[in-house]
Amino acid sequence: MTRPYNFSAGPAALPPEVLTEAAAEMLDWHGSGMSVMEMSHRGKEFTSIIGQAEADLRELLAVPSDYRILFMQGGALAENAIVPMNLLGNRHEADYVVTGAWSIKSQKEARKYCSVNIAASSEADGFRAIPPQDTWRLSKNPAYVHICTNETIHGVEYFWTPDLKSAGLPDTPLVADVSSHILSRPMDVSKFDVMYGGAQKNIGPAGLTLVIVREALLGRALPVCPSAFDWKTVAEAHSMYNTPPTYAIYIAGLVFRWIKGQGGLAAIEQRNKAKAETLYRCLDESDFYRTQVAPACRSRMNVPFFLADERLNEPFLDGARERGLLQLKGHKLVGGMRASIYNAMPLAGVQALVDYLREFERSHG
Ligand SMILES: *Cc1c(COP(=O)(O)O)cnc(C)c1O
Repeated sequence: MTRPYNFSAGPAALPPEVLTEAAAEMLDWHGSGMSVMEMSHRGKEFTSIIGQAEADLRELLAVPSDYRILFMQGGALAENAIVPMNLLGNRHEADYVVTGAWSIKSQKEARKYCSVNIAASSEADGFRAIPPQDTWRLSKNPAYVHICTNETIHGVEYFWTPDLKSAGLPDTPLVADVSSHILSRPMDVSKFDVMYGGAQKNIGPAGLTLVIVREALLGRALPVCPSAFDWKTVAEAHSMYNTPPTYAIYIAGLVFRWIKGQGGLAAIEQRNKAKAETLYRCLDESDFYRTQVAPACRSRMNVPFFLADERLNEPFLDGARERGLLQLKGHKLVGGMRASIYNAMPLAGVQALVDYLREFERSHG
C-alpha cells in the first residue's frame, strides 16, 4: 500500500513509522495485556509513558530546568482564555501582536478577561509580513505580551524572537502560540515565558495541548480560573489533576522518539528548510502561481499559494487528488491553495507536489 501525501494543516499527517508502531502495540502495550487506551493513567505503565514523553521533549527542545511541561486539553483556543486567567494577577491590560487569523482569535478571547492593547498589527497589509519589533507600541505595564510565532492560515512565521528587555519591559512575560511550528526547528525556550500549542499539527493527535511555562509564573491564577486550567494545579499534579488525554500523550511520545531518531531538531530543521525552499522556488519561478507573503516571513510549515487563474482551482484540486496529493485547498479566509509541510511530510512528498505543479502548468498554462 502506498500512502498518499497529506498536506492537511491539522489534524495533520503523522510519521508512518509512528503509526506502524502504534498499530503493533494497539492490543498489548509492552506485554501489559492492555491497549494504552485501557490503562489507568495512574498505573506504572502509563506513568512511564508520560514520564518518557516529557523527558524526551525536554531533551529535544532543551527546555531549561526552571520550566514546567504541562500536558493539557482544550486546544490552543482554550489557552487563549487560560493564558489571561493565569497571568493577569491584579493587572487589567495585556498586549497582543496581531499577525493573522490565530492571533486575531487570541486577542478577541482575551477581551473577556482584560483590556487588550494591539501593540502591532499587519492586518492593513493583508498579513503578509511580521511587523518588526521597533514598530510595536507596547503599553507601559502589560500583564504579558502575546504573539503567534507561526500563523497557520496566513503562512507567516517569526524567524526572530521579540526582546522585551530592550523594549523596557524586563519583567513582562512573553507568551507564544507555537501550535503549528513547534519542533520544526530548535527554539530558545529561555527567550519565552510561556509557549503553548495544540498537538495536532506537528506533535500528534488532536485532544492534547502542550504548555511550557516558566515555573516562577505559576500560582497567579484568578480565582475564577477552573482548577483544571490553573497551570500550578496541573504542574503540581504532573498533568494528572484530571484524566489526561492518555492515548494522545502516548502517540506524542512516539513522535518525540521518532524526531530523536531523525537526528533531533537541528537535523529536522535542515530537512524542513530544504522542503520549504523546494516548494517556494517552484512557486517563484512561475507566473502561473503566486504567493503573497514577504520572503523573509514565509512559513516553512504552511505555504499558501494561488493559481493566477482562479477558475482552474477545482481542476487543480481534482488532479492533485488523483495523484495522491491530498488536502491542498486553502483556508476559506485566504482562498487559493495551502500546502502544510510539517515534520512528517518527507521531501519526496514536496517533490511530488512540485512535479504536479509543473505538470499542471504545462497542461493549463
Ligand atoms: C490550529 C491552531 C489553533 C487552534 O488550535 P485548537 O487545537 O483547534 O484549539 C490555534 N493557533 C494556531 C497557530 C493553530 O495553528
